[in-house]
Amino acid sequence: MPFFDQTIETMPRSQLRSLQYQKLRAMLEGIWERNAFYTAKIKAANLTPDDIRSLDDLRCLPFTTKHEIVGDQFAHPPFGTNTTYPLKSYIRFHQTSGTTGSPFRVLDTEESWDWWGRCWAHVLSGAGITSDDRIFEAFSFGPFIGFWASVDGARQIGAMMIPGGGRDSLQRLELMRDAGVTALCCTPTYALRLAEVARESGFDLNQIPVRATIHAGEPGANIPATKKRIEEAWNAKCYDHAGASEVGAHSFECEAQPGGTHIIESEFIVEVMDTRTGEIVPPGECGELVITNLGRWGFPVIRYRTGDLVVINVNKCECGRAFARFEGGIVGRADDMVTVRGVNVFPSAVENIIRRYKEVDEFRVTVYTVRQMDEMDVEIEFADGTDASLAAFIAQAINAALSFRPNIRVVERNTLPRFELKAKRFHVKRE
Ligand SMILES: [Zn+2]
Repeated sequence: MPFFDQTIETMPRSQLRSLQYQKLRAMLEGIWERNAFYTAKIKAANLTPDDIRSLDDLRCLPFTTKHEIVGDQFAHPPFGTNTTYPLKSYIRFHQTSGTTGSPFRVLDTEESWDWWGRCWAHVLSGAGITSDDRIFEAFSFGPFIGFWASVDGARQIGAMMIPGGGRDSLQRLELMRDAGVTALCCTPTYALRLAEVARESGFDLNQIPVRATIHAGEPGANIPATKKRIEEAWNAKCYDHAGASEVGAHSFECEAQPGGTHIIESEFIVEVMDTRTGEIVPPGECGELVITNLGRWGFPVIRYRTGDLVVINVNKCECGRAFARFEGGIVGRADDMVTVRGVNVFPSAVENIIRRYKEVDEFRVTVYTVRQMDEMDVEIEFADGTDASLAAFIAQAINAALSFRPNIRVVERNTLPRFELKAKRFHVKRE
């Protein structure tokens, strides 16, 4: 079972905590009076780096929100004031897809890009990938940071990286076969899309010696029914990974797959906040992930509120790693939850039901209100030859799990959108 850095990954948690503290303190001193954004924030809290004398003192520092950084970039275009070094020190520019309006730009230096690669090297090693592997990136590279850092991660572990941009799905499958690809990196949605295209084109996926699929960019690899679908389609083990442009690549699934993702605690400090009280909660309780990265001095985030909901488990894993885990991966996002007829519903819960039916190729869910009554429409696209009466069983399964009956409609093939990045299947239309 390969580790990227066995000493660090298996060290006792007390030692891990002192390593985190040393790195935190060094970072605070390194950015102090250089990074205008954080120097101002820390000064406004009447603190200096000297006041942070233990890991617990991190809690004295203020939270950072996405809104603050985007606002700062808007006020100080184009990059804002969260830059620690002169702009000539930065070698990489990325920005988020800007789903909530203004783009969120991030910059990396030579050092911090190397750090991103190191984090991805943990992700790949966790999935058992070594220098013997050939990794296919089924992805068209653009400004979204997505799989860019995985390219550097592959380099750091000596694996061969095969870029998959500039071609359609079938051409990608052919390239994977010709190059003898053993590991696939893409969104969970796109892994299923490739399998769908293979089926429609009569392309036998067994021609590709893939043994691991590694997913990022959206939930899915942590949704049990979706994970199972991917594993069955590819005859490979499916691995979840989570990260964010603002924060870094922070968690990965190991080969033992205990039902969650390890946090790379040598590079990140995680806290979990009860969003109602603002208090930090202990392991085992669900709350918002608050994260501090330790290796991106050029564009740091300290106590960054991610909006992701997680539960932390600190028990040692079968794989030998002492890194804590997110139980079930990222459980959801606080702002993704919708209430339908009094029931709190996460999109992932609906997906977990629908994906159990392998006849479903694609689906779309719309929640809306008519005369004060919540309704949920589910449009479903079946594989050719499916008996449409299956839709009634899916409606029943959703009703059994969520206690309300959705309106299910079977649509013609190829009417619903297909996604390569960040699938959007869940829509809420309310006044
Ligand atoms: Zn493990």
